[in-house]
Amino acid sequence: MGDDRVGVDAIFDDTTGIVDAGTDGPTSARPGTSAGGLTTTAGVSGRMSRQLRRDTAPEIALRRELHRRGLRFRVDHPLPGMARRRADVLFPRRRIAVFVDGCFWHACPEHGTAPVNNSAWWAQKLATNVRRDRDTDAHLAAIGWTVLRFWEHDEVGSSADAVEQAVIRMSTTWLRDEH
Ligand SMILES: [Zn+2]
Repeated sequence: MGDDRVGVDAIFDDTTGIVDAGTDGPTSARPGTSAGGLTTTAGVSGRMSRQLRRDTAPEIALRRELHRRGLRFRVDHPLPGMARRRADVLFPRRRIAVFVDGCFWHACPEHGTAPVNNSAWWAQKLATNVRRDRDTDAHLAAIGWTVLRFWEHDEVGSSADAVEQAVIRMSTTWLRDEH
């Protein structure tokens, strides 16, 4: 891939606001938030408390990389028509929603494991998360949005590549449709 990035900054500015509020914002319960890759039963309570945190390391790493590449976006933003659900990174004009799914909370096929204690409760909880993810995907697709989901174990560079390509693709659409 070449390095022809003429006009990238101007084209990619998809917000009017602040890009990254950092990690010290107010906490709010956000089901499905990633909380690290360890899945031992001893880690469950730790994960539960960390679930309340708004930002997680994999999300921050992706945001940082996207920002470094000149992309501008909204962070932790409500989804259209689903005020109580949020995308980790959102390009509103280009209608792209990006999620960084935690391996535990979203039942990653490689790292997702079921806790031994209260296993029935956990199985239901995690299944509900996955069902909600698919429901969110379907809703967004139905209204013409592009959904990009990454696992927290994904390499940040390749995730950022995929986002960048989607933004370029949708920029063409956006410019054609609205300008
Ligand atoms: Zn994983």
